[in-house]
Amino acid sequence: DQKYSNSPQQEFNDGSSLLSLKTGGPKMLKIASHLNDDENKKPKLVILGSGWGAISLIKELEKDKYHVTVISPQNYFLFTPLLPSATVGTLESRSLMEPIRSIIKDLDAHFLEAAATAVCFNDKLVEVAPLTSNSNNGGEEKEMKSFYVPYDKLVIAVGSQSITHGIEGIQYCHSLKTINDARTIRKKIMDNFELASLPTTTLEERKQLLSFVVCGGGPTGVEFAAELYDFLTEDLVSYFPAALRKEVQVSIIQSSDHILNTYDKRISDFAEKKFERDNINVITNARVQKIEKDHVLYKMKNTNEEKELKYGLCLWSTGISMIPFAEKISSELPEQKNKRALITDNRLRLKGIKDSSVYAIGDCSTIENPKLVEGLMKFFMDADLNNDGALAYDEFSKLVKKISKSYPITSNHLRKANDLFEEFDKDKSGTLELNELRDMLENIDKKLTSLPATAQVAHQQGKYLGKKFNQLALAKSTPSNPDLDDKLDPFNYAHLGSLAYIGNAAVADFGMGYTWMGGWSAVYLWRSIYFSEQVSFRTRALIFSDWTKRFVFGRDISKF
Ligand code: FAD
Repeated sequence: DQKYSNSPQQEFNDGSSLLSLKTGGPKMLKIASHLNDDENKKPKLVILGSGWGAISLIKELEKDKYHVTVISPQNYFLFTPLLPSATVGTLESRSLMEPIRSIIKDLDAHFLEAAATAVCFNDKLVEVAPLTSNSNNGGEEKEMKSFYVPYDKLVIAVGSQSITHGIEGIQYCHSLKTINDARTIRKKIMDNFELASLPTTTLEERKQLLSFVVCGGGPTGVEFAAELYDFLTEDLVSYFPAALRKEVQVSIIQSSDHILNTYDKRISDFAEKKFERDNINVITNARVQKIEKDHVLYKMKNTNEEKELKYGLCLWSTGISMIPFAEKISSELPEQKNKRALITDNRLRLKGIKDSSVYAIGDCSTIENPKLVEGLMKFFMDADLNNDGALAYDEFSKLVKKISKSYPITSNHLRKANDLFEEFDKDKSGTLELNELRDMLENIDKKLTSLPATAQVAHQQGKYLGKKFNQLALAKSTPSNPDLDDKLDPFNYAHLGSLAYIGNAAVADFGMGYTWMGGWSAVYLWRSIYFSEQVSFRTRALIFSDWTKRFVFGRDISKF
């Protein structure tokens, strides 16, 4: 409090105060008053977000080590990998949500339904804004004021938003990131079918209403198209006239030459063939130019030909960017130069903050390029098993496998290992020498930008931080040893594989060339993996019940 002695302060009955920061400008904001004296003795850990990264961290933390405050505008955890299933009613929205308060109960943590708007790093305060105004007893609107929450350790796990690439007309598209997005899409699909069934609707209007266009052939776009196709063929077919069904068209516009292009090539081929059989129109090598109210304009990359596709519903799913809060933080710290995400070191500490007090995990963050070439000698000596000063092909491919376990260079790079070997074996000796290996690692370093923005990464990062914070709470820092975090292991990502549902079939890329593609056997594998990853028994039971209900009665096509 001495720190703020020159600032105007006003004490309240509940012990809280209004505070104007010396360093933070003219704002007079209340300090959150949810800390009692006992809790005040523990280090204050503030977690921003209630998604994958935050939840994994919370689940790993041991009780009584920190005073934990979770701040998020969303008072539940959302199981995003199954979100496409909620757009057509294969699963109900609530089955994918777990209340955050039930997750933090065992930790005795606090939850504030609000959004972080700024961080005063010098004063270790997060500025927080409640979501909406609420009504007081008299029914009048009460103004909701921002406030500060103090921290000793802050974890930023605020996720991301859809990237727009500056495309004009993006407001006409749907996105699929939140539970409300899934609900809106579900309603829109039914709206379009009911409208298309009216006698006043012309054939042209009907075709447009029943044209579903997905911009982006990554896992989310592909899974949505697959769910939609299942819905159309398994449920709507029994309820709507055959003439209507003939007009339905699902299209995917993808800028690169394959859908699921971060997966093994065999998986992309399998998915494309499956979609071809299902009559899903996959348009590759096409760049969206503009979205109009009722059609998408795109250009074929090879021929520059401009085309248009009418739509009744258009989903935009082409990648992610920073939310405004993360952008604000990034712009305030000179060390943050990446425009896509907040940069951390390999211990997940935010670059630009000196004292290990701020961490960033999940979609909102990226670990600074690991610079493989820096570990050159170690790589070389580990791989050169017969110590002849050069790497034979089998030694080289073991090295690539080892590297790909820790970095996201999995199948794609591995598939090219043979080419890489020949490419970098400049003297054509059939072996790679140290200077040739350096060239190769420099080449990979350039391509290595960041870990994929997946639940898997966010989950592992949250878990890593939880374990680390438990250890740090036990250890005492001393003036000669101020930063204990430096002594602990850095974060190491283990890629366990990527899954995708492609409509009564599923694919799995386990990395290092191992894949699984198939019909129902793969679907059951896909389901059982997500079933086992549920955060609570409650959501597990709800999901099981939804799958059973759909099997017995089909999907619910009522609009609400
Ligand atoms: P999120 O889980 O997005 O959580 C961010 C949290 O921050 C939210 O609770 C949000 O409300 C909160 N927040 C936002 N702004 C603020 C603020 N200002 N202050 C405080 N809190 C804030 N990944 C996979 O690995 N496998 C999959 O199959 C898969 N499928 C997906 C399907 C869909 C449809 C989507 C959208 C994503 C999918 N992902 C998948 C990606 C995965 O969901 C993300 O990588 C993961 O959610 C990232 O976790 P996170 O904790 O960084 O962010």
